[in-house]
Amino acid sequence: MRRQEEADPRFVADVMLGRLAKWLRIAGFDVLYSNKFTDDELMAISNLQHRVLLSRDTRLLIRKPVTEFIFLESENIQKQIRQVFETMHISALDSLLTRCLSCNETLVETPRETVRERVPVFVYETQTHFKSCPKCGKIFWAGTHRAAVIQTLQKLCRE
Ligand SMILES: [Zn+2]
Repeated sequence: MRRQEEADPRFVADVMLGRLAKWLRIAGFDVLYSNKFTDDELMAISNLQHRVLLSRDTRLLIRKPVTEFIFLESENIQKQIRQVFETMHISALDSLLTRCLSCNETLVETPRETVRERVPVFVYETQTHFKSCPKCGKIFWAGTHRAAVIQTLQKLCRE
């Protein structure tokens, strides 16, 4: 694996790992996920885009040639996250909350005055920094994600 990929791993997750994909996106990782990806598509995406395939399907991993993959041993989401962090030697979450959870796009800084009509009044009045998704337009701000989720990720990362 090349140094660059070690520093900033990218993933593609199989249909059984929607929750893991979402958690990894919260942590800021580039994770492709669709519940419509076929086995062949997963393999092609992994190989062509140099993405680590995340899978719980031993049959898929045995049958198809794929160079980089993690077989998730547990159904437990926290154990899955820990396994990914350990395998990829992820020890810091520098990109926490930088990615759209729906589209996987990198969020862009968005001036406060431009979101006035698009967020609840309370949020507008109490928040100073906003980001938005260039693809779906969804607005994100500190507090979009529950603090417990962030704490869990940081804890799993450090363990
Ligand atoms: Zn989006």
